[in-house]
Amino acid sequence: MNTKKFDYAPAPESRAILDLKPSYGLFIDGQFVDTLDGRAFKTVSPATEEVLAEITEAGQADVDRAVAAARKAYDKVWSKLPARERGKYLFRFARILQERARELAVLESLDNGKPIRESRDVDIPLVAAWFFHYAGWADKLDHAGFGPNPKPLGVAGQVIPWNFPLLMLAWKIAPALACGNTVVLKPAETTPLTALLFAEICQQADLPPGVVNIVTGAGDTGRALVEHPGIDKVAFTGSTDVGKMIARSTAGSHKKVTLELGGKAANIVFDDAPVDQAVEGIVNGIFFNQGHVCCAGSRLLVQESAYDEVLSSLKRRLGTLRLGDPLDKNTDIGAINSAEQLARIRELSDVGEAEGAERWSPPCDLPVKGFWFPPTVFTGVSQAHRIAREEIFGPVLSVLTFRTPAEAVEKANNTPYGLSAGVWTDKGSRILWMADQLRAGVVWANTFNRFDPASPFGGYKESGYGREGGRHGLEAYLDV
Ligand code: NAD
Repeated sequence: MNTKKFDYAPAPESRAILDLKPSYGLFIDGQFVDTLDGRAFKTVSPATEEVLAEITEAGQADVDRAVAAARKAYDKVWSKLPARERGKYLFRFARILQERARELAVLESLDNGKPIRESRDVDIPLVAAWFFHYAGWADKLDHAGFGPNPKPLGVAGQVIPWNFPLLMLAWKIAPALACGNTVVLKPAETTPLTALLFAEICQQADLPPGVVNIVTGAGDTGRALVEHPGIDKVAFTGSTDVGKMIARSTAGSHKKVTLELGGKAANIVFDDAPVDQAVEGIVNGIFFNQGHVCCAGSRLLVQESAYDEVLSSLKRRLGTLRLGDPLDKNTDIGAINSAEQLARIRELSDVGEAEGAERWSPPCDLPVKGFWFPPTVFTGVSQAHRIAREEIFGPVLSVLTFRTPAEAVEKANNTPYGLSAGVWTDKGSRILWMADQLRAGVVWANTFNRFDPASPFGGYKESGYGREGGRHGLEAYLDV
């Protein structure tokens, strides 16, 4: 049944605010520089396949140079600065990020494909909040519970993914600088642009040269950075496969390592949950950011007695989502970030069908150019199905059922991952009991995908180790 009463007029955000350059160098020692031994690649808009800019792929000599610049800045400037002076720089970053929020949101949506509503209302405000939060910590490390006068580690090598490019940069750079470290950061190859704009913001903020260095490139550049003998700390967010390689290559070295990896979260709906709210939470859990979210609620566990009502309500709601131009302020679902990611989503969805699950999507016209996948729901999913076990990292929900709380816990924990979970119920006591039983770093109750700089985030099992955010996030950057 088509319940649509009217269409929305297009409301595109203007790109005129951007000052995109045709090509970008590497940001090393406070300057944009040409590569010594690297190559170039292109970054495209996933919504249209338009080439946005040419980006430098840093080689080994470039990584050497960036690490040397970070070391010099650490020894000569940053580790000598009084803590409250470090805090001032972080406050300055936070304010500039707020001032340039619209520009950053437009650029993020253009390069990543995520709806402007999300980059404008979620990503960029959280980025500024992260810098404000850690700006406040810089001169209070004595009171963070790690003993008097905790020391920084030195130079941090940081590698981030493409799903929240600027937010992952903030999660890495803000605590590192607050604790007195200097950094070399590598953004993902498909989303380098906001990190390069952040490099310009470092210049605008008069950050001493070498405190932040940005090297662009793909996996080889990332490997050269994490394996570099000149770094003291590795902070990686990305896939579990690459995380395992990094754990192996850094084992036995002096480097402190944190890994934020994949997830396959259960979003658990009991029959006493308010259905409309739960449905919003399910939609936000898996269709926010096209499901490119490590903590996405990709497995929906519904109590059998509520199954029919929840499923019909969910399908009705999915029929109202608008997919299309990421820069349109009405858009709910944007583009898939890359052709490779689209191929993976398609492959796993086909496997879901082949293994016997039932596939459903609302009627939805996909644009001809660019990388697109409709919101998709699989029912009749069993725990053995690959779509119930593997991270799809796309707008694909697998629905399973349960009868008792114990069965819900057993199914939710039956995964190699342990990053997040959601519980929807009217009973406070049940929330507390479930939170105690679930092996997940974050458990949301009657909400999903909410983030706050004061609250630690991280996984159990193959979702990685270490925590980012809050007081806990400081520990990863201090010699404690
Ligand atoms: P990915 O592992 O392929 O790439 C992540 C980053 O690592 C990129 O910058 C990439 O260039 C780099 N890289 C690739 N090979 C490398 C190597 N051998 N050595 C060093 N660096 C290397 O992951 P992706 O597809 O870009 O990102 C999606 C993954 O990230 C998902 O699994 C998702 O769950 C995870 N993720 C986790 C969190 C979290 O906080 N736990 C947050 C966001 C994303």
